[in-house]
Amino acid sequence: MEKISIIVPCYNEEEAIPLFYQEAERVKAQDFQDIEFEYIFVDDGSKDKTLEEIKKIAEENESVRYISFSRNFGKEAAMLAGLDNATGDYITLMDADLQDPPSLLRKMYDMIKNEGYDCIATRRVTRKGEPPIRSFFARCFYKLINKISDVEMVDGARDYRLMTRQMVDSIISLREYNRFSKGLFSFVGFKTKWIEYENVERVAGKTKWSFWKLFKYAIEGITAFSTAPLIFASFIGLLFCVIAFLLILAIIVKTLIYGDPTSGWPSMVCIIIFVSGIQLFSLGIIGQYLSKAYLEIKHRPTYIIKEKK
Ligand code: UDP
Ligand code: MG
Repeated sequence: MEKISIIVPCYNEEEAIPLFYQEAERVKAQDFQDIEFEYIFVDDGSKDKTLEEIKKIAEENESVRYISFSRNFGKEAAMLAGLDNATGDYITLMDADLQDPPSLLRKMYDMIKNEGYDCIATRRVTRKGEPPIRSFFARCFYKLINKISDVEMVDGARDYRLMTRQMVDSIISLREYNRFSKGLFSFVGFKTKWIEYENVERVAGKTKWSFWKLFKYAIEGITAFSTAPLIFASFIGLLFCVIAFLLILAIIVKTLIYGDPTSGWPSMVCIIIFVSGIQLFSLGIIGQYLSKAYLEIKHRPTYIIKEKK
């Protein structure tokens, strides 16, 4: 019998977990009599009763496994841990808050089986229930990253996807520390089909992503999949050299013709401030890449497991 591994990253999801499990089991009974399920709940260092909730379920169901981290390592780490430990022939990633409807799974499975895809990925076409500025910045991010990066990133893409064993093996062979899954999925290639659905609001609990966390994640995505900001920094550097050179020529000519009355002090201050601003900005960009490289060469583990079943 074939097996589907369901990986569920959980961070403070005590309320959502029972609801999630119930819904997944309902889908299993209804659509998947011919297929085995393996649940892998990854407790990402939750501070509430998430682990207890998971253990309760694990006691009554043999096919429920869990991994508990020693602290919060982030959703990317949780997904990787799940992928590392999954044993299924097909592997899917789902949020605990039921924003990734398990009811779509049968359709996804049939598509892989019958249409020869390696991966069925989902994207939401609406962002109902999300703060408007968050949606606005998310759209800007996708526009920007698609301009400056070689790998394609789909706007509204969720992490919810069903993949073949082969594709998952290629993903876990990428051991980088700064992980941006949306890019990694696209980087490994394989035949992917996108299916669309309307955004569903979470069943319980609150979102774990603050604006600041998302902003840092966006920077992660940009530095991990594009070097365009570095080229941009070099380009403005060059541009300013050219401008400075032309200005010097102009001043020499002007001095030769009109003599040298001392003037232009305020404009000088403005120029100094402007140019040093650009310098710091470019240095910041370089610093971003350097810091990522620094974390990368330390070879620290992406996650640390405290207990598992
Ligand atoms: N999550 C996680 N670690 C974190 C943050 C989130 O494992 O540090 C999990 C969370 O429990 C949920 C999923 O990632 O199952 C998506 O998080 P959330 O629903 O808060 O994000 P949103 O849907 O609002 O983008
Ligand atoms: Mg959610």
